[in-house]
Amino acid sequence: MPEKLKNNRAIAMLDAAADGGYGVLGIVSYNLETIVAAVRAAERKRSPIQILLFPWAIHYANGLLVNLAADACRSASVPITLHMDHAQEEDIIVKAADMQTQGQNSFDSIMIDMSHYEKEENLAKTKKLVAHCHARGIATEAEPGRIEGGEDGVKDTAELEGLLTTPEEAQEFIDTGIDFLAPAFGNVHGNYYGVKNIKLDYPRLDSIHRKAKGQVRIVLHGTNEFPPDILQKCIKSGVTRINVNKLVLHKYNAYVEENTGKVPLTELMEKGTQLIQGLIEEHMDIIGSTGKA
Ligand SMILES: [Zn+2]
Repeated sequence: MPEKLKNNRAIAMLDAAADGGYGVLGIVSYNLETIVAAVRAAERKRSPIQILLFPWAIHYANGLLVNLAADACRSASVPITLHMDHAQEEDIIVKAADMQTQGQNSFDSIMIDMSHYEKEENLAKTKKLVAHCHARGIATEAEPGRIEGGEDGVKDTAELEGLLTTPEEAQEFIDTGIDFLAPAFGNVHGNYYGVKNIKLDYPRLDSIHRKAKGQVRIVLHGTNEFPPDILQKCIKSGVTRINVNKLVLHKYNAYVEENTGKVPLTELMEKGTQLIQGLIEEHMDIIGSTGKA
């Protein structure tokens, strides 16, 4: 591991999860309510977590939302790190890597998602950007293959077909220097439209994990609608961070839809925060991170 990464908190957190056989939630956050809920849940359950922002956060509010999230991470009484997920443009990766909050890197880790390029170009760009991030002590993530679909705030790859990751391809990406690897093994971004449609290739995940072991940590994308047993099975197959979007936001989304304009905004925010916090805490128990901070 490069010297600069020795003190990286995100790597240490996922290494501990791999050693301990539990998962760490990566909580997709779009707003204040989610960030507040994430910190409260982490402190209440004494659980490590990672807060995830998309580049959308920078496009929308420049440094404001990033600083808010980074502040929340640094001031919490349990380990919380900040991750930039699905950064799909080189200039936004360079910008995110240079962002500082109170004199420290705003981001602990950045996903370099060049999956919309052909593989050779993807690998070359990934390698260059990994070096840029590592020089600043920031961990990196990439997605070999292509996880199909789109997520709110991420460019939809619907026009491109999903490509399942092979162990050989995983190694090609590991060789770029990345720290976290997000394999495509049947998982998709967006909706599955029913648990019966979740069809994961566990032998593929196992073989990627065997290849990755001791080199990088495996992270899981595309978990909308995943029931507890599937989450736990993925952890058994080597997954450490588990990205969650609708799994922890669906009650909030429904509540906001139902109550906007009907109750005071303060009530909407407070009740909404509680609904997110409740689902985060539930999932900490499910993936075993409760008490691991
Ligand atoms: Zn993703």
